Order: sequence, then structure tokens, then C-alpha cells
Amino acid sequence: MRRLLLLLVIALGAGPEVGLGADASVDNGTAPLAASAAPIRVDVHPPAGADGPEPWTGWIQTALGAVRTVSPDYPVERLTVRLRGVETGGAAVVFGRVRRSAIPALEFYVDPQAELAALNADWRSYHEAAHLLIPFPGNRDIWFTEGLASYYQYLLQARAGMISEHESWTELARGFQRGFDDPQGAERDLRSLSPRMRQLRAYRRVYWTGAAFFLNVDVRLRTETGGRHSLDSALAAFHRCCMDRRSRWDARSLIQQLGELSVPSIWRQEYQALMKGPAEPEIDRAFAALGIGFDGRSVALDPNPRATALRQSISAPGSAGLARRVVDSDDRQ
Ligand SMILES: [Zn+2]
Repeated sequence: MRRLLLLLVIALGAGPEVGLGADASVDNGTAPLAASAAPIRVDVHPPAGADGPEPWTGWIQTALGAVRTVSPDYPVERLTVRLRGVETGGAAVVFGRVRRSAIPALEFYVDPQAELAALNADWRSYHEAAHLLIPFPGNRDIWFTEGLASYYQYLLQARAGMISEHESWTELARGFQRGFDDPQGAERDLRSLSPRMRQLRAYRRVYWTGAAFFLNVDVRLRTETGGRHSLDSALAAFHRCCMDRRSRWDARSLIQQLGELSVPSIWRQEYQALMKGPAEPEIDRAFAALGIGFDGRSVALDPNPRATALRQSISAPGSAGLARRVVDSDDRQ
């Protein structure tokens, strides 16, 4: 089996840009990122049977560029991407996972003949890359890491300009509906369900109940602080202070730390509300603030300027970078 090892340095924005064996420039429709963004060395192992570095490097650059709209300090300096060619039945990607080894790795099972557009249109690369935004909270709190990755997966696709904002909210709403409709784990609370997710096959319920937690926190942070805080800014602050700390984290300690870096009461209240009832995505209040109506299949987006601005601050290409610059200048005053 022939394996081609690519070493590329992905440098975004105004940072140094060096490419070895691949064109490292990125044009994914997002605003230029902070100049402080450090390059990431990415070793890409294309699937057996692939002809060269493309479309694989372009695909991975798009996903990493999108995740860097959350935090320019993406918490890895080196990353391995392993691609395994399989019979996918026409899909570009059928499976993805993260390995949190000394050099973290993303693994995907892909169609070796997949084209760039089809790869970029699949949510898995954004989901798996988003997992690395936080340390692993442990299997008992699997809801926390899966919830974060699921919350971001479609929004990052929209930030990268790969799907429209309308599409991203539609997919997110449908995800919440899948969680709500999951027959597995109904009536159980998240505290007991999360550690047994695999055994009970309650993936959708756990993933999307977790995603609703992050939606609620994000919307409250943005609306209750006039845009000074957001989930993005809390994660970016976390990377600066705490990502390198050799600690064991769980959902509680992550919530405590992310709260200290933004608005503790919002994180605490949303966590308490989440743990109180049965595990199901509670999105009504957040969707009302966002001006999103959902009938189970399609969304209707309220054109009122306040709701539109809130949605755009979360899903518009480049909006995260703009929001961060606004926050930065506020902090200097
Ligand atoms: Zn995941």
C-alpha cells in the first residue's frame, strides 16, 4: 500500500506562511485571523490509492481554518491526519474520530476518489477538529465534548462559507430534533445517561442535549453582555490560560474555568438546568432570541435586526473574527 506523507505548515492571516509539499495558502471566505495565530504542522496521510496531496490538504485546511474562527490559538502545534480509504457507498466521508495522543490525530474513513467540494460539504471534519478545542472531559462527561463538537459542526461550515447561514441553522435545528426524537435514553437524566451512552446507544440524545447546553450558554453570553462575551471568546481565553495545564478535567471543572473567564452565573445556571430534568435539547428560549422558528423540517428566520445580528455573530463568514476585534478594543479602554 502506497502512503504519501505530507508535511505542511498551515499559517493563517498575517503569520508566517511556509508550505512544504503543498500550497499552504487558505482562502475559505473567512475574515483574516489574528496575526498571533501560530502555524500548525499537519502531517496528512492520504488514503491508499490517492493520487496526490489534493483534495486532502485543502479539505483539512478548510476545517482547521474554520475552527480557528473560534480561537486563533488552536490548541495543537502538531496534528496528524490519517485518512483511510473505504467503500463509502457514494459518501465522501463515513466516519471520523479524534485520538488524543502526544501528537493528536484526526482519523477519517473516506472515499479515496472524493472531490474537494464533497469533502467540504461533509460536517465530520469540522466536528472532529472542534473536539480539540477543549481537553477531554472523561467518558462520564462525554456529553460535554460531543455537545461542543455538535454545536459547532454546522456553524463552522457556515463560517467557512461552505454552506449558507440559513442551511447551518436548519441543520442545527434538525440535529436538536434528532436528539429530542431519539427513543434511546428518553426520560433519563444526562448525569446517568452520559456514562452509559454507548451501551444504551443513546448517541443522538446525548450529543444534541449537550449541544443545546452550548447553544444556551453562547446565546446568553452574547445577549447578556452586549456581545462582550461569547462561547468563542471564553474558549479563546481558556486556550491562553489553561490549555497547557496538566490537569484532569471534567465537565464541572471546565464549566467552572470557562465561567471564570466569562460570566460564571450563566454557565452555572445552564449546567444546573441541564442536570435537573430528563436529557433532551431545550432550545426554545435560545431560538426565540435568535429569531428562529422551526416546524420539524425547515427553519424560518425572523428578519428583525436584533435577531439577525445575533445569528450573524454566530454563523456569518468572518463574523467571529470581527466580534473578537470588537471585544479586544473594548478591553483596552
Ligand atoms: Zn464527536
